[in-house]
Amino acid sequence: MPVRSFDEFPTINADRLWARHMEMAEIGPVEETGSCRLALTKEDKAARDLFARWCRDAGMQLRSDRAGNMFALRPGRDDRRPAVAAGSHLDTQPHGGRFDGVSGVLTALEVVETLNDAEIETEAPLMVINWTNEEGVRFAPGLLGSAWFAGRIDNETLDEILSTDGRRFADEADAVGWRGAASRDDLPMDAFFELHIEQGPVLEACGADVGIVASVQGLRWLDVQVTGSDAHAGTTPLDGRRDALLAAAAMLVELSATGRREGPDARVSVGRLKTATDGPSTVVGQAEFVIDIRHPNAAILNRLRDRCRQVCKEVAQAHGCAARVSDRFAVPPTQFDSTCVEALEQAAKSLQLSYRKMPSGALHDAANVASLVPTAMLFIPCRDGISHNVAEYASNEHLAAGCNVLLRAMLERAT
Ligand SMILES: [Zn+2]
Repeated sequence: MPVRSFDEFPTINADRLWARHMEMAEIGPVEETGSCRLALTKEDKAARDLFARWCRDAGMQLRSDRAGNMFALRPGRDDRRPAVAAGSHLDTQPHGGRFDGVSGVLTALEVVETLNDAEIETEAPLMVINWTNEEGVRFAPGLLGSAWFAGRIDNETLDEILSTDGRRFADEADAVGWRGAASRDDLPMDAFFELHIEQGPVLEACGADVGIVASVQGLRWLDVQVTGSDAHAGTTPLDGRRDALLAAAAMLVELSATGRREGPDARVSVGRLKTATDGPSTVVGQAEFVIDIRHPNAAILNRLRDRCRQVCKEVAQAHGCAARVSDRFAVPPTQFDSTCVEALEQAAKSLQLSYRKMPSGALHDAANVASLVPTAMLFIPCRDGISHNVAEYASNEHLAAGCNVLLRAMLERAT
């Protein structure tokens, strides 16, 4: 029976969805509530094999590609149509939680199982995806599987990336048994949805059931090198110094203020500061740090970058130092597809859920996929905004609400 109106939508099985999360979390357990499944380790293999078993039990066929990305297919009535896809990643941080990535894969699987239970066929096929090495802990960079799939990394580069323990990506992908020959052309996609825990405090603070993500903010990294002059801490008067560390400290204060002046969506951070000398009795002559700048709007992001650069130059001069500022890395903001965003919004409304439209602060696989096919993301709240931490927690109710939104959006697109 084809589905014709929102009234006819089935409801997902929240108990099954929760039980799947708990079973997956038993692979690579850390402390009471955490998980450690670094990409292409034996824990990752076990997670993949479990996911594959669930997919096969649900009647899906599995394919995989050169990057070890896994694609589970549920046929449609018209298999010439491209698939409506959803998914995320099963790898975790070393002290990761049970929901980051996992929820996006398991809710997509739950959508298929719900349709199976309700004996609903879709016109277009459905696809559930597990992207390889999203976290970038064992192999850098992160989002590796989706970046390769989107053509942002070539075959040779992918194969030769070395893990932190010195192993080739290609060998490790072979070893887990999920390095296949499927290409992008073999896996035509009509749209991609990614459900993810928010990993921030906004939804919880405003009491919204779900977040509809219309964009992923862009990122720019600036390398800053501050040069002053080494000096004796006892003999050099305070007035005559060219203290690079003091100048860098003043820059950090001013950089944060610069970010704050651009409004609540701006992020300016310095997470690493190195000095050439490291002694309590030496005035520092050389300091280096990296500025991490983020904003969802490309023009504002670029303006922020220019202002940060200017701040470093001015503060350095005021301290008798010089600052060299260079661009290291940039990711432009991603705007998600308006029809996919709209589909999620309509689904949330039809379920009478409260939602908030928001940008994503973190990068996600969906940002890579968005360069290929219409894409959007859905956030669910997580307790205290905590993520990349064994204390990460999303409630069964929020998971179920998000999964029902995903179900309706996918079904609408596939019917
Ligand atoms: Zn994630």
